[in-house]
Order: sequence, then structure tokens, then C-alpha cells
Amino acid sequence: MAETRMAGGCQCGAVRYAITPPLVNPSICHCRMCQKAFGAFYAPLVGVPLDKFEMTRGTLSIFRSSDVVERGFCKDCGTPLTFRNLESGEMNVSIGSLDDPKAVKPIVQYGIEGRIPWVGELNALPGMETEEDSDASPEHYARIRLSNHQHPDHDTGVWPPDGGSSR
Ligand SMILES: [Zn+2]
Ligand SMILES: [Zn+2]
Repeated sequence: MAETRMAGGCQCGAVRYAITPPLVNPSICHCRMCQKAFGAFYAPLVGVPLDKFEMTRGTLSIFRSSDVVERGFCKDCGTPLTFRNLESGEMNVSIGSLDDPKAVKPIVQYGIEGRIPWVGELNALPGMETEEDSDASPEHYARIRLSNHQHPDHDTGVWPPDGGSSR
């Protein structure tokens, strides 16, 4: 499956893209710029040659985080989507925005000078499934499920399905 086209996009569905192999250096980057851009402890990214990256819906909004790097995101929902070193021939996409993120396993860590010291300990924390969180009622989760505005993990012909009347 990893040898075939992979699609992805933002949370709201306004921006969609597809990539095709060869995949280059699936990674996590711990640098402070990636932490900030993703609002996260590190950024999961995978590269493809520029001509293997294709926009399939909407347009990326771009923040140029340095003279040589463009970061693409959805201006409607804020999802971080792309990272491009302008001096390279590659486009990177955020692995979490792929429709099937588990299909792309990182093989290297970058920017480890910025790695948060306890980030390697997180898997050992106590864990619970979403609905085991005792602070919220079953009705609360039912409301989330029924009012979910997140784009599904596959390409859609029309989105949002109701033309946006409820947004
Ligand atoms: Zn969006
Ligand atoms: Zn980085």
C-alpha cells in the first residue's frame, strides 16, 4: 500500500492534497520552529519529490518561517500541512494530515538539540480511551460524534456535504 498514491488534507476539508512515492526520510523534527508551527512537541513530516505532490482541493496558505522555508497550512482551520525548503526539490507533508498516518513510519529524528527532555517518556504515561475520561458524560461524546465537522479520512466529491449551511 505504501507504494501507491496517498491523500491527505486539513481538518476542515478546505485543503486536500495527494502524494506518490518515492517517500523521502519520514521523520520527526524537534526543532523549536517546528514545535511552534505545529503547536506540538515535534513535527512529523515526510518528503516527496516536488512533482509527486499534487493539490487536489483548495489552496495552501503560506508562512515563510525563514528566507528558505515555506510552511503551508489551511487558513480556515489552521492545520499544518506542508514544509518546503525552497533550496530542495522536495515537498514535505505533515504525516498526521495524511488520511492514513500510520502508513508512514518515521525513520529519523531531526533537530534533536530542541528535543524536549521528557518527550521519550510519554508512552509510559497512564492511558485511557476517549470515552474513559471520567470528567465528561456519554452525552458529551454523543454530541461530538453527531456534530463532527472534521473532514473524513478519504477524498470527497463535495465538502461540506450540506454546502456549508451549518457552518
Ligand atoms: Zn481546513
Ligand atoms: Zn524542524
